[in-house]
Amino acid sequence: MINYSIDADGIATIEFDYPNKSQNILNAGSMGAYAQTMQKALNDPTVKGIVLASAKKDFIAGGDLAELGAATDAVDFHRHISDWHKLMRTIELGGKPVAAALGGSALGGGLEIALGCHYRVAADNPKARFGFPEVTLGLLPGAGGTQRLPRLAGMQASAPLLMEGKRLKVADARKLGLIHAIVPPGEERQAARQWVVDMLASGAKPLQPWDVKGFKIPGGGPNTPGGMQMLMAANAMLREKTYDNYPAPRHILSCVYEGLSTNLDTGLAIEARYFTNLVMSPVSKNMIRSLFFGMQEANKLASRPKDVPVQKYSKIGMLGAGMMGAGIAMATASAGIEIVLLDTTQEAADKGKAYAAKQWARQVARGRLTQEAMEALLARIHPTASYVDLKDCELVIEAVFEKREIKAEVTKKTEAVISADAIFASNTSTLPITGLAEASVRPANFIGLHFFSPAEKMPLVEIIVGKATSNETLARSMDYVRAIGKTPIVVNDSRGFYTSRVFGTYVSEGLALLEEGVPPALIDKAGLIAGMPVGPLALADEVSIELVHKIAQQTRVDLGSDYVERAADRVASKMVAELGRLGRKSGAGFYDYPANGPKHLWQGLAEQFPQKLGADALCVPGIPLRGQATATISLEQIVERLILVQSVETVRCLEEKVLRAAIDADVGAILGWGYPPFRGGPIGWLQSLGIANALEALERLAKKHGERFSPPGLLREMATKGDSFYPS
Ligand code: NAD
Repeated sequence: MINYSIDADGIATIEFDYPNKSQNILNAGSMGAYAQTMQKALNDPTVKGIVLASAKKDFIAGGDLAELGAATDAVDFHRHISDWHKLMRTIELGGKPVAAALGGSALGGGLEIALGCHYRVAADNPKARFGFPEVTLGLLPGAGGTQRLPRLAGMQASAPLLMEGKRLKVADARKLGLIHAIVPPGEERQAARQWVVDMLASGAKPLQPWDVKGFKIPGGGPNTPGGMQMLMAANAMLREKTYDNYPAPRHILSCVYEGLSTNLDTGLAIEARYFTNLVMSPVSKNMIRSLFFGMQEANKLASRPKDVPVQKYSKIGMLGAGMMGAGIAMATASAGIEIVLLDTTQEAADKGKAYAAKQWARQVARGRLTQEAMEALLARIHPTASYVDLKDCELVIEAVFEKREIKAEVTKKTEAVISADAIFASNTSTLPITGLAEASVRPANFIGLHFFSPAEKMPLVEIIVGKATSNETLARSMDYVRAIGKTPIVVNDSRGFYTSRVFGTYVSEGLALLEEGVPPALIDKAGLIAGMPVGPLALADEVSIELVHKIAQQTRVDLGSDYVERAADRVASKMVAELGRLGRKSGAGFYDYPANGPKHLWQGLAEQFPQKLGADALCVPGIPLRGQATATISLEQIVERLILVQSVETVRCLEEKVLRAAIDADVGAILGWGYPPFRGGPIGWLQSLGIANALEALERLAKKHGERFSPPGLLREMATKGDSFYPS
C-alpha cells in the first residue's frame, strides 16, 4: 500500500501504491499505513527529508466514499479525523523538509495531504486536476482543506473550489499558490528531491506560511472589511441558490469564517466537528448513494443482461428531425457515430441539421469547440427524406409526432429496409411500448429509448422494455446509451413509464393546490424551497398546460369507466379549453410572458381560482392574508405534499414492477427531472424519513387529500417487517 525507501543522502521516499486499483484512495487501511510510515520517517534520525509520491499516474483520487457513506459512529469518526490532523501538524512542524511530487491529479484528501507538505511540485500534465469535489457529495474537505486552502490562496479565490467543487488545471493551481513549481512530466520526483536537498543545505527550518510569525491571510481574513463583505455576499448567494437545503456549503462557510478567525490548530478542530456532522448527516449519505454509487452502477451497466456480446455502433437512424431528433443526432454524432436524420421532406431534415450547426457554432464562438471539430461532427449527420438511406443502420430511433398511427407507419417503412437484427426504438414520452410494438414485424427488437429535452444535454435515457422486447435488444440498447455517454435506467412498460408518471404527480399536486385556493406564488415558491429546480405551475407552463390536458383526455379515453377525474385535470381543462392559456409556448399560461420583461404570474388567476387558504408562512399571526383567508396552510405542508406525492407514486412503480430497482428510481429522478439530490431521490427520501414515519405521513395525507397519497401495500409490508429500501 505504501512503498518506503531511504537513499544514501538520508532522503526518504514515501510512495502511495494502493493495491489492485488504478487510483490511490484514502481509507482506514491506506491512511493507517501512511501514518505509520510517515511517523517512522519523522522519528528516524537517519532520515533528513521526505519526498511524497505516487506509484500511479495520478497522485491520490480522494477519500473512499464507501467507507464515508457507511460511517455511523460520530465519536469514533471525530477521533480518527482529529488524529489525522495531529499527524499533518507533526509533519508541518517536525523540522524535516517534506515535498510532494504530483505526477497527475490530486483531489479531495489527496490534495489535502499535498497541502500539508512544505513544498509541492507538479508535472506539466494537461490531464491533471486539483480540487475538492467533496461539496458535490454533501461533504467538506475535512483533512484541513477548508483551513489550508484559504490561508494559501485567500478566501475569495478559494470559494469556487470549496463551495462548488471547481477543479483547476495545473497552471491555475500554480497561480493560486497550491503548487510551487511545474516541471516536465517525469521530472517531478527529482524536482521535489532537489528542493529537499536545497532546504537541508540552507539550514533553514521548513515551515508552512501560517506557522511563520506575522503570517497574514492573502486578501485579508474574515474580520477585515473585504473578508466581511465576501462572506456576507457568499452567505446570501448560497441561501438564494439552495434555500439552505444543503448543509455542506453552509458548513464550509462556517469553517472558513470561524476557522480563519483563529489559528490553524483551532481552525482544524472546528473543521473536524463540522466534517463529522456532515459525514453523519442523511444528506451526504443520500448524495453519496445516488450521485456516486447509483450513477456508477448505472454507467457500468450493472443491470445489463449478461451473455450478450457488446455492440459497437457505427451508424444510427433518426426518424423526425424536430427538437428531440436533432438533439439525439447531436449526442450521437458527438460520440463518433454516423447518423442518418430523416424527416418527411429534405427541407425538414436539413432544418434538424441546421439546429445542430447553430448549437455547435455557439460552442466554437465560446472557444469550447474548434472549427475543424465542428465540421467533423456535422459531416456525421446525413439529413434525408428517403428510407433507403437507413439501410445499414444498426439502430433506428423514432422521434416523430406523438401519434400512434404516424409511429406505426414509420415503423413499417423502416423495417422494410433495415437488416433483420437491427433495433427499432421509440422516443415516445407517453405511449406504451408494447402497444407501439404491434406495428412491428419483430417486436423482440422493439424498445423504448426515452430521452429528455434538450436531448443533446440531458444525461438520462429511460429504457423501456416492452412485453416482447428481448434481453438481447435491451443489452444492445444499453450499449448505445453508454456509447453516447448518457446514463441509462431500465424500466418496464406502463402508462407514463417511470419518469413522466412520477414527474407528472409533482405538477398535478401544484395544480391541485391551486384549485384548493392556495396562492400561486406560494405554490411555486414552495416547489423551490422543496429543492425542485422549478415550481410546479411554472413547470406546467414550460411543458405546456395543453400537454397536461391532452394526457388527461387520453387517459380518460384509455381507462374508460376506471378513470377518476383529478383536480389537476379540471385545472388544466379550465386553463386550456375555457381560457385558451396553453402555457409558455402560447405566451400565456399560469404566467404571462411579456415581450419586453420578465414573466410574472397571471393576474387573472386570483379570479379563476379564488384564494381560500392563506399561508401562515405569509401571515402576520392573527391577521388574515388580504382579509380573505378562511383557513391557513403552512409552507411545510405544501412542501411535504409536493415531495411525498412523488415518493408514493415511485413506490407504486416499484410495487407494480415498472421499476426494477430502487436505485434506478433515485438516479432517474435526479438526472431526469432535477429531483433534489439532498433528498437522495423519491425513494432515498423515504429512507431518510424512516419507513414507519413515511407510512404515517402518507396515511395522514391520504385521509385529508385522497387516494393519491394512499400508501401502497409494499410500504406497509416493509414497515411491518422493519425493512428498508437500502441498507441503513
Ligand atoms: P417535434 O414536433 O419537434 O418533431 C417531430 C418531427 O417529426 C418533426 O420534424 C416532423 O416533421 C417529424 N415527422 C412527423 N411525421 C413524420 C413522419 N411520418 N416521418 C418522418 N418524420 C416525421 O417533436 P419533438 O418534441 O421532437 O417530439 C418527438 C417525439 O419525442 C414525440 O414522440 C414526443 O413525445 C417525444 N418526446 C418529446 C420530448 C420533449 O420534451 N419534446 C421529450 C421526450 C420525448
